[in-house]
Amino acid sequence: MADSKLQATFSFQAEVKQLLHLMVHSLYSNKEIFLRELISNASDANDKLRFEALAAPELLEDEPDLGITVRLDPDNRVLCVSDSGIGMTRDEIVEQLGTIARSGTAEFIGQLSGEAKRDTQFIGQFGVGFYSAFIVAEEVQVSSRRAGTPPGEAVKWTSTGEGEYTVETIEKPERGTTVKLTLKAEESEFLEKTIVTALIRKYSDHIAFPVRLVVGADGTDEEEVVNRAKALWTRPRSEIDAEEYVEFYKHIAHDFTDPLIWSHNRVEGKREYTSLLYVPATAPFDLWNRESPRGVKLYVQRVFISDEATQFLPLYLRFVRGIVDSSDLSLNISRQLLQQDSNVTAIKSALTKRLLDLLVRLAKDDADKYRTFWSAFGSVLKEGIVEDPGNREKIARLLRFNSTHSDGLEPDRSLDDYLDDLIAEQNTVYYLTAESPTAARNSPHLEGLREKGVEVLLLSERIDAWVMQHLTTYREKSFRDVSRGDLDLNNGDEDKVVQPKPTKDQQHLLKRVKRVLRDQIDEVRISERLRESAACLVLREQELGFQMRELLKAAGQEAPDNAPSLEINLQHPLIQRLDQERDDQKFESLSLVILEQATLVEGQPLDDPAGFVQRMNELLLQGSDPSDS
Ligand code: ADP
Repeated sequence: MADSKLQATFSFQAEVKQLLHLMVHSLYSNKEIFLRELISNASDANDKLRFEALAAPELLEDEPDLGITVRLDPDNRVLCVSDSGIGMTRDEIVEQLGTIARSGTAEFIGQLSGEAKRDTQFIGQFGVGFYSAFIVAEEVQVSSRRAGTPPGEAVKWTSTGEGEYTVETIEKPERGTTVKLTLKAEESEFLEKTIVTALIRKYSDHIAFPVRLVVGADGTDEEEVVNRAKALWTRPRSEIDAEEYVEFYKHIAHDFTDPLIWSHNRVEGKREYTSLLYVPATAPFDLWNRESPRGVKLYVQRVFISDEATQFLPLYLRFVRGIVDSSDLSLNISRQLLQQDSNVTAIKSALTKRLLDLLVRLAKDDADKYRTFWSAFGSVLKEGIVEDPGNREKIARLLRFNSTHSDGLEPDRSLDDYLDDLIAEQNTVYYLTAESPTAARNSPHLEGLREKGVEVLLLSERIDAWVMQHLTTYREKSFRDVSRGDLDLNNGDEDKVVQPKPTKDQQHLLKRVKRVLRDQIDEVRISERLRESAACLVLREQELGFQMRELLKAAGQEAPDNAPSLEINLQHPLIQRLDQERDDQKFESLSLVILEQATLVEGQPLDDPAGFVQRMNELLLQGSDPSDS
């Protein structure tokens, strides 16, 4: 090639190739959305230019009007979407249209199954707007000139969506981008004026720029503005229907799935701002990635300022999407200033409150939707217990748990359910944290409580131990980890705990066991909490829990050693056998096995797994040897 600057062929990033293939296949039944996506990108491009022009008005050149034009040319099977927005340079076009920068993309695509119905939802969450053009087009051409660059340095990108694209330098007098689709033979409907008009009204009425429709190759036909061209959030709530709210969500969130709920508010008085916030129905694939997109779209007096203004919501509400339009902020406010601005702080706390109230209402009015919310975002919301002490009680009200009083796999018990169903005077909310839902449900710590009919909340997510350290009271009841300290099962009143006083014989047994296990445990005592199990490990109230130790270690921090106590169940045949064992060596071996079993039940690794297996085998063989008894 003579001049690679002029024309060059590139290969799509591997992820893009896969995605293009899957997308065309799985979104076909919903193909008309390509128009919404292209108009949405055009609107973003206009927004970005208006923002940059605040500091550099010359970027607007001699064409200050920002608009979007859809042109239909049935004779050539062409549909074009043009904007007069920011445009792209050659490097930008290669970067933006040839790769997907979002980290975790490859893993995400690996999860796609090729099954259209399932993948549609997945792909939708991912937001891959531009590529949807290939659902209906056999070729896509993007001509673009970045605002501020000379007409001779514009760029044209061309692809059939099959692995490669070419880029060449062209002359383009008008600023901005034109996306030209040469439609597949079977997609003629998108060349019909009435159909396209209806689609623009359906999907893009809320776009704040005029969308003009023109028919004919030369564009001499009369242009007609087909949308309302008024930013949705500036209109009164009573005039906006649910469908419009949903379409607006899809535009700002780059999500194909309908949102779960939203809240639209105008605040007037000392501070003036409008917010329109949405709770999505599904979590993005990179919800747990620190760099994943979050925050609201910020406008100041209708002018777009930032795509990801993270200062308006606390981290634990990072799944919320939406816009904030403030009249009090300055148009050229910088990121740093935004952080310190008292208006921002006040808006943040008002929005937080509004969202929590919205969720409380959802939980009350629509249990099904709330369940969807909780399974998508519950573990993020939980972080709020730690992060936001001021709203702790309200967040606690929103928590959902597995419990010994529910058998579903989905957490569906709230703290209010717990307190409303108390059978007797009980000042404490009992809970247990474990490594997995099964480990929690089968924990020996529950045996005595279960017999008494006392409900215990079962927690098994990684962050639960950390969250529960901060949740100390709710509706004036305190929280109690059932695997720690003394458990009084008589009336739940912690002040009156009385450990049964061991008899002389029992004391002798406890001492004997303690002597064997002295390096590994703090104390041996008689258990109140056990029924079916022989023994369990118990930590002191303030001691670092097993899960917390794991968390700290995983974070590369020093975790102090903890010394649990061993509680034994005197009614258990194994303990009775231990009591009768006169052979010191066998006594030692059996004591160790009992401790090791209790350790395993906690989900903890053993210091000497091989020794444990050997001891177990000896015991098993003893049992089967008739000469042994
Ligand atoms: P998304 O819009 O979700 O980021 P897209 O695949 O639709 O994903 O677009 C990828 C990127 O290409 C956009 O983020 C934007 O930077 C750029 N882009 C797309 N369309 C335009 C346009 N009309 N003008 C300027 N940039 C555009």
